[in-house]
Amino acid sequence: MAVPAPEASPIMEFLQPTTWVEALEAKAAHPDAVPIAGGTDVMVGINFGHLRPSLLLDLTRVGDLQEWSTEDGVVRLGAGVSYARVITELGDRLPGLAMAARTIGSPQIRNRGTVGGNLATASPAGDAHPALLAADTEVEVASVRGTRRIPVADFYTGVKRNAMDADELIAAVHITPPSGPQQYSKIGTRNAMVIAVAAFGLALHPDRGAVGTGIGSAAPTPRRAPAAEQFLAGELAGAGLWESRGELPAETARRFGELVADAAAPIDDVRGTAGYRLHALSVMARRALTWAWTDYRTDYRNNAAKEA
Ligand SMILES: Cc1cc2nc3c(=O)[nH]c(=O)nc-3n(C[C@H](O)[C@H](O)[C@H](O)COP(=O)(O)OP(=O)(O)OC[C@H]3O[C@@H](n4cnc5c(N)ncnc54)[C@H](O)[C@@H]3O)c2cc1C
Repeated sequence: MAVPAPEASPIMEFLQPTTWVEALEAKAAHPDAVPIAGGTDVMVGINFGHLRPSLLLDLTRVGDLQEWSTEDGVVRLGAGVSYARVITELGDRLPGLAMAARTIGSPQIRNRGTVGGNLATASPAGDAHPALLAADTEVEVASVRGTRRIPVADFYTGVKRNAMDADELIAAVHITPPSGPQQYSKIGTRNAMVIAVAAFGLALHPDRGAVGTGIGSAAPTPRRAPAAEQFLAGELAGAGLWESRGELPAETARRFGELVADAAAPIDDVRGTAGYRLHALSVMARRALTWAWTDYRTDYRNNAAKEA
């Protein structure tokens, strides 16, 4: 029997702008072009045959995307900054995101992979999302039509779907450095190179008496746990704990964990059951809160005393 000839692979064109304006013009002229930054998602898609773009838009030569800066105390993190740089250059300013970044892939993946790429892929399991959600991040997207900022909670619109229009690119994310401790917790089948079975990000904002949360791998999109946030902020304010930095009642931490799990909508899949994910989330949230509160009572008080 004759073996059929392999299908001829279609030609893949490659655009390589060197400025942000050129990149936006290229995306406007070719809305179907697939941007590529670190390539750690795009190349997997191409290699496995899930993705066969006719046009790739390489963003690695666009200098603006590789930079971060601080404006009015808010960090503007270029979409093309790698996880490795988030860890080494911004670990003190963005501790929650740096903790999440340390759990991503391997050193090779952290050297190539970017927060912009994680956002655009918008996988429910992406590790940057819970940290970005907990920190009230805004995503700056741009096109030749102009620039707009999207609260990160509104950026995720479905499984691997996001709020960008076809002619838009992610320019940066805007993150306010925290006034209190942040934590990130991830459960996987091993300690490294693993997609999260469930993940949780927490940020305490004592300057405004607020709490931020982010849930990963336990709903169609990354999402916050608003009832848990309101419950905890109310308990901390009601008992005067923000000021006293007193001990956190165990019942408060337990209920917080329960409300975080209530906000999730996980499925059974090859990595874990929905029931396991809910249990894991409640435990991770309780532990993350306990760690963050211990930090708030110790390091943060000492730091505040040093500053006074
Ligand atoms: C071995 C391995 C391990 C991994 N481990 C993890 C892990 O532990 N946790 C985790 O979260 N992820 C993991 N990933 C996935 C991947 O590394 C991350 O999602 C990473 O953040 C993708 O960033 P990138 O720059 O490589 O994106 P790319 O692959 O370049 O692009 C990803 C998507 O973003 C789009 N894009 C990129 N930049 C822009 C932009 N500026 N504007 C608009 N669209 C843009 C691309 O078109 C594409 O759709 C892993 C991947 C591999 C191969």
